[in-house]
Amino acid sequence: MMERKPLIAGNWKMYKTSAEAAETAKALLNLVADVRDVDMMIAPPFTALAAVSEVVKNSNVGLGAQNFFWEKEGAYTGEVSAPMLVSAGCRYVIIGHSERRQYFGETDERVNKKIRAALQAGLIPVFCVGESDSERESEKTFYVLDKQVQNGLKDFSSDDLTSLVIAYEPVWAIGTGKTASSIQAQEVHAFLRTLIEKKFENPLANSLRILYGGSVKSDNIAELMAMPDVDGALVGGASLKAESFARICRF
Ligand code: PEP
Repeated sequence: MMERKPLIAGNWKMYKTSAEAAETAKALLNLVADVRDVDMMIAPPFTALAAVSEVVKNSNVGLGAQNFFWEKEGAYTGEVSAPMLVSAGCRYVIIGHSERRQYFGETDERVNKKIRAALQAGLIPVFCVGESDSERESEKTFYVLDKQVQNGLKDFSSDDLTSLVIAYEPVWAIGTGKTASSIQAQEVHAFLRTLIEKKFENPLANSLRILYGGSVKSDNIAELMAMPDVDGALVGGASLKAESFARICRF
């Protein structure tokens, strides 16, 4: 089986001014300077991208954005494009986070356009999928994930998706302190990998990194990472402090 390099990604959501973000990034770099066997990424708010980019450039920590609009430029007041993110120093972009789906009308169709635009700009898309509490309760988890993946990855070939990262984030586990058990995460990650294998065939399914997200902390990361199909984590709350995020990166 192919080795997949773990990716630990921090989503800072709408927290931190640019000065605060740069300070946290500096502290993080000091704590993870010797980490080589794990890819690391932090995604501050747009207004902090430039400042954090200055701090992390030429380091082992990559810069990510939390969202963007799929057009390259135009009269789209308030939006930011993928080429703009690249010029601000980003290598990654989070797409389809459940908070965007829930509060900002992000649909699978929009997610599909964003994945295409991100790839065209050379960004690594971190494509988020996940079921809600009621969907899990009513045993619709696999149905919901299948739909999100099929629609989000519609009309791509496996060659298009070599850099793709999927993040499985059960909505009921985000910011709630309720983590999926490692068994629950493994079950879904294996399902997602098989889904990708059926849709795109084996090499992509084998090399695809599937992250788990939802109340990941330093005390549950090791158990999650011990699962064969868990290739990293997307971390919200626990990524906001350099010390706790560094502990997760050193799982
Ligand atoms: C997230 O926002 O992607 C997330 C997983 O948040 P938290 O770690 O706080 O649950």
